[in-house]
Amino acid sequence: MEGRISIQETGQLQVPDQPTIPFVIGDGIGPDIWKAAVRVFDQAVEKYYQGKRKIVWKEVLAGEKAYDETGNWLPEETLTAFRDYVVGIKGPLTTPIGGGIRSLNVALRKALDLYVCLRPTRWYEGVPSPVKHPEYVDMVIFRENTEDIYAGIEFAAGSIEADKIQGFLLGELNIDYGFSDSTGVGIKLVSEEGSKRLVRAAISYAIANHKPSVTIVHKGNIMKFTEGAFKQWGFEVAETEFAEHTYTWGQWERTKVSAGQEAANAEQQQAERDGKVIIKDMIADNFLQQILLAPRDFSVVATLNLNGDYISDALAAMVGGIGIAPGANINYATGHAIFEATHGTAPRFANTDTMNPSSVILSGAMMLDYIGWTEAAAGIRQALAETIKQRTVTVDFYNLMEDATLLKTSAFADAIIAKL
Ligand code: NAD
Repeated sequence: MEGRISIQETGQLQVPDQPTIPFVIGDGIGPDIWKAAVRVFDQAVEKYYQGKRKIVWKEVLAGEKAYDETGNWLPEETLTAFRDYVVGIKGPLTTPIGGGIRSLNVALRKALDLYVCLRPTRWYEGVPSPVKHPEYVDMVIFRENTEDIYAGIEFAAGSIEADKIQGFLLGELNIDYGFSDSTGVGIKLVSEEGSKRLVRAAISYAIANHKPSVTIVHKGNIMKFTEGAFKQWGFEVAETEFAEHTYTWGQWERTKVSAGQEAANAEQQQAERDGKVIIKDMIADNFLQQILLAPRDFSVVATLNLNGDYISDALAAMVGGIGIAPGANINYATGHAIFEATHGTAPRFANTDTMNPSSVILSGAMMLDYIGWTEAAAGIRQALAETIKQRTVTVDFYNLMEDATLLKTSAFADAIIAKL
């Protein structure tokens, strides 16, 4: 039956056999990679459900195409469609220059309160990588998506707003940091609710998927009441809401103080034997070196918005770069989700049919998993993995591989479809 995806009171998604799914084709290389990806999705659904299930695609406008056709970068109808149809997918979008919107992506995430940016990172055999053991990387990043300095509360040096804030700091709080006339001001916001719902999502995922740990990554040593609080609230969520399934390094610290390090270690080892998820934490700069030195120590990662931005690109590079890094923006309370390639519009390569569509294809596989069509999702990953293993790849991988066959974007999609 054709229809809309909806969310039940239990929080479960209700998915008709022919759900309408809105998509934004995207700017720059967006049309090339979308056209390739959508054929893979449709063929996979056809193969695995033999006509019983089918996606009814509904194009909605955003970015340059929206601006050209409506004079608006992000028309209200697009937001309404993503709201009404619950689950959607999008290509990369240009950031308008000089317009009222800082970023269309951020605007979309805000409008639907998509508080989790989910980025699974794993390696596919044969993908060129700058590290010796890319197969050790198997991490799922939960990046907070609505707060932190990304909230966009920022004022230019010399502006009335910046002057007012500096006047307040000096007059009311007696804070004088010098250079005040020529200082831009940005405000970093981290709330208890925002932090807890992100870490809650990460822990729920780790439990449901039998992952060994969740690492909370932060700069709490320097930013104590924002990033440090994020860690503390994260431990609190684990200890109060998931006590039966988790063991935190906060507990380890307390046992160390009361009974010594050996007792604390014994407690953690017991928790590991019991199959509990270990909730660890790590300072962000150390984390960025540890993912290179000891990637097997990490599984699920929960982090703030800006850290998550850096971390996901660093991890993507270890397993082949942003051409193959999928992502999703999700609100687990309302069910709303928008899946998207993590790279941008690469405008120099627009309409060349050369770029790698893997990022959108794998984002679509995540979307199929999300709506419960897991057979089609697994089939797509398998076919993509085989295509790369046979060294039939797009130019980004071709340039880094030996004895590879160069394929256009569209031909790469054909090769995947042939292996479904
Ligand atoms: P970019 O990600 O568009 O491109 C950087 C480089 O990465 C490209 O030059 C290309 O070499 C490579 N690359 C990107 N996608 C690839 C693919 N699918 N296959 C192979 N190689 C690929 O970053 P940029 O040039 O900094 O940004 C261009 C525009 O995209 C800007 O307007 C920016 O704001 C926007 N942007 C949008 C999103 C989004 O929509 N989610 C994300 C990042 C940047």
